[in-house]
Amino acid sequence: MNVTSVGIVGAGQMGNGIAHVFALAGFDVLLNDISQESLDKALTQVEANLDRQVARGKVTAADKAATLARIRTTLTLAEIGQTDLVIEAATERETVKQAIFEDLQPHLKPTTILTSNTSSISITRLASRTDRPEKFMGFHFMNPVPVMQLVELIRGIATDDETYQTLLEVVRKIGKTAASAEDFPAFIVNRILMPMINEAVYTLYEGVGSVQSIDESLKLGANHPMGPLELADFIGLDTCLAIMNVLHDGLADTKYRPCPLLTKYVEAGWLGRKTQRGFYDYRGEKPVPTR
Ligand code: NAD
Repeated sequence: MNVTSVGIVGAGQMGNGIAHVFALAGFDVLLNDISQESLDKALTQVEANLDRQVARGKVTAADKAATLARIRTTLTLAEIGQTDLVIEAATERETVKQAIFEDLQPHLKPTTILTSNTSSISITRLASRTDRPEKFMGFHFMNPVPVMQLVELIRGIATDDETYQTLLEVVRKIGKTAASAEDFPAFIVNRILMPMINEAVYTLYEGVGSVQSIDESLKLGANHPMGPLELADFIGLDTCLAIMNVLHDGLADTKYRPCPLLTKYVEAGWLGRKTQRGFYDYRGEKPVPTR
């Protein structure tokens, strides 16, 4: 199937990045959200990120203008139904995602492919509530979308090969690289990354190292570009905890139990960069370790 138009539901940090890469690659993009403020913010963000790419010589001024012209926004979910490919990137709550797919259903073209950018929710379960589980897939982008090269493609138990091949081609057109993952909790990247971050928090909790020594050890000792605690602050500690809970519940193995110190930071509302405090305090000029 030839995909030329894409409907994105949810215009948050992921939705705006997804809109950016698809529009830049020449797709017609329709971006939907329940909040006009989110739609306005998303367009401002896409423009700012394109400006950065223009300044670095990666995108021309003409491409920037053409990219912005290819993005339309709407508060009406039904309009998304006429696109070739739907990418749901709304809040990570199963009831929210189910309601979106249910409300979209009567407005869909028979050929429309449905996908979700969920970090952890079962693709098979989301698909089973739609009229087209064979045309449903997980389409997991990494944050920040315009920068990160990888996309995880997750087939539900019923996904057909034509849908998978179509998405492989779409990934090629947006210039990214696909990794295929089976539909098990947290897929590949987060299945490996989150237990490492959780272990770093245990290492801190047990007093084996300080925030600084843990991050420095992994940067200089394992050649990681960011330390695990710095990275956790970037992702959001609430997100890290939610994914650990999905692994713990979904795989029923105690090796995935979230570190009590991670829970404590989330309970304090110290969620990382987005709240200006996490394993580091970002309120001053330079990040300062909080332990
Ligand atoms: P976000 O909070 O920045 O954005 C979510 C957006 O969804 C908001 O603008 C909200 O108004 C909108 N929304 C909520 N309900 C809606 C509805 N019924 N219809 C339309 N829009 C609705 O969240 P985000 O970080 O962009 O995450 C979105 C999805 O992407 C989640 O499933 C998340 O797990 C996944 N994801 C996030 C990351 C990350 O690093 N943040 C990485 C990969 C995948």
